[in-house]
Amino acid sequence: MLDGRRARKVREQAIRYAANGWPVAPLAMPGDGGCPCGNGCVEPHLVGEVVRDGVQASVVWDRSGWGIALVTENYDVVDLPPEYGALLNQQLRTTCPTAMAPLRRRWWFFLVPGSIPAAQVARAGGVLHSGAGGWVPAPGTWTETTGCIRWLVHPYLTHWRPYQRRDAIDRVFL
Ligand SMILES: [Zn+2]
Repeated sequence: MLDGRRARKVREQAIRYAANGWPVAPLAMPGDGGCPCGNGCVEPHLVGEVVRDGVQASVVWDRSGWGIALVTENYDVVDLPPEYGALLNQQLRTTCPTAMAPLRRRWWFFLVPGSIPAAQVARAGGVLHSGAGGWVPAPGTWTETTGCIRWLVHPYLTHWRPYQRRDAIDRVFL
């Protein structure tokens, strides 16, 4: 379970995501004391419904101690190994919400759904998190396989919009 100060910070973050149109769900993260859901889980898992507004988030995260999952309803998360991630980050810079999971140096890019075909992501050694059933732990979360995930490009920098692919012709004929 999270301590009080940490839990308040997590609650504020959950409210901020939800209020800005980023659906969130409460996340149970097993630790040394077992899983906060009370079962013998090994992997982090969702423990409730998807939350889509700030008021509802303030209720769900009220003293619950849950972590946050970002539900991939409105964007795809393209999870790439470092050789691709660093390169893509150089190209996209601050135009794409981008997070990093430091333990295996995975890069996460938040793109408009369908931006990159799953097969193409897989060929690069990546994983595509997509659709209403998909989720990733929110940056700020620590898990055994990821380390402490953090934002490199926070979504407020893109006005909470995932990256939209455009080439020069799209930009002229928009
Ligand atoms: Zn559990």
